[in-house]
Amino acid sequence: MARPSPRTLQQRLADGVVLGAEGYVFELERRGYVKAGPFVPEVILDEPDALRQLHRDFLRAGSDVMVALTYYAHRDKLKDVGRADDLEEMNRQAVRIANEIAAEGAALVAGNICNTWAYDPKEPVASGAVVRAQYEEQLGWAAQEGVDFVIAETNDYLGEALIGLQVCQELGLPAMVTFASVQPSTTYDGYDYVEACRILADHGATVVGLNCSRGPATMLPLLERIRSAVDIPIAAQPVPFHTSHTTPAFESLESAEGQRLFPIQLEPFQCSRFEMAEFARQARDIGVNYIGICCGGAPHHVRAMAEALGRETPASRYSPDIALHPVLGIAGIESQVMGGWSTGAG
Ligand SMILES: [Zn+2]
Repeated sequence: MARPSPRTLQQRLADGVVLGAEGYVFELERRGYVKAGPFVPEVILDEPDALRQLHRDFLRAGSDVMVALTYYAHRDKLKDVGRADDLEEMNRQAVRIANEIAAEGAALVAGNICNTWAYDPKEPVASGAVVRAQYEEQLGWAAQEGVDFVIAETNDYLGEALIGLQVCQELGLPAMVTFASVQPSTTYDGYDYVEACRILADHGATVVGLNCSRGPATMLPLLERIRSAVDIPIAAQPVPFHTSHTTPAFESLESAEGQRLFPIQLEPFQCSRFEMAEFARQARDIGVNYIGICCGGAPHHVRAMAEALGRETPASRYSPDIALHPVLGIAGIESQVMGGWSTGAG
């Protein structure tokens, strides 16, 4: 399929909410295809069918966007895991696979870049050049393979986010630029998240907003402030975890004994599909235009969010119908009256 799509991101945003789905790295780690720690998406080359399947799962669950899994597929990270030689092929293959599955459902394809860990606000020029070179090579390959737009995400610094935006603009690609909002109110280079979004909007971003780090409860108040500060579409892709006023970001969630649970023991804080559906409704109601999910998200969350937004998805054929459960449903209540529960919960 040629990119950009006949119905572009901007057209779809003008028509209504665009539903996204991310959290590929976390989900593929759970499935046994990515190593926790480095979180480098080696799965792209090592087990491409596993990546295809997750794309397809999110597509069936209603996602309008297939995000190429190039998160952490940049030069420094691949060097860390001894795969620097695979850099180009990994990036190209990720975009090809996203295109392949997007074509099964007329979805958009997003290129993906993220915080590089190379940016240093004390050395913005020198470190910025390193960041820029990594973005240029990643997005150059993505543009050649075909993407509709770029998601430049989990930014910690406005300075680094602006470099990502600029590289997108030089390649003629619409950019959705988002912050991770790990800290209570400001980026690591000292800008209030709301102000940082406004500056990105002023510099020509197509969409600005937040992804990762915060769960629905702590992302929504910040989203309301961003909504009133910018005129362009905004994005929200929270993590499906119960963050709170005292712990706004999931990186700091702890057990009752004070043990840090991030990144691979977060299950006690997991949001249900119903909570994520409620988030989707609330986000839509405050005017969020691009609604999605990040680390920890899975297809059942995405389907519930899509249905909360009034959609029927290919996976909706198998959406819950608890009334048909032999014990919990009407039939179960009848058989209980008739004299006995059966072990129906298979
Ligand atoms: Zn995330």
